[in-house]
Amino acid sequence: MRKSSRKSSRKPSRLGSRSKARLEAEATYVCDSCGEEIVVPVDISAGSHQDYVEDCPVCCHPMRLHVDIDPDGEAHVAGEHE
Ligand SMILES: [Zn+2]
Repeated sequence: MRKSSRKSSRKPSRLGSRSKARLEAEATYVCDSCGEEIVVPVDISAGSHQDYVEDCPVCCHPMRLHVDIDPDGEAHVAGEHE
């Protein structure tokens, strides 16, 4: 039987000595256009509220993203149709 690993846990190992500095988080939103769940990296050091437009990597539809970061460093993203 073949093992199919759906989750690839490849880690980029550059700067491997850096321990967990909480400067980055990941958040997900659902694209309005194609319905895919998109994972976006969030730069926590850029502020607790961020607003930007990003093209969906699946269907290239531009989405306006509202990013909010909790005091405990958890990021939330709301996607809005442009
Ligand atoms: Zn999309």
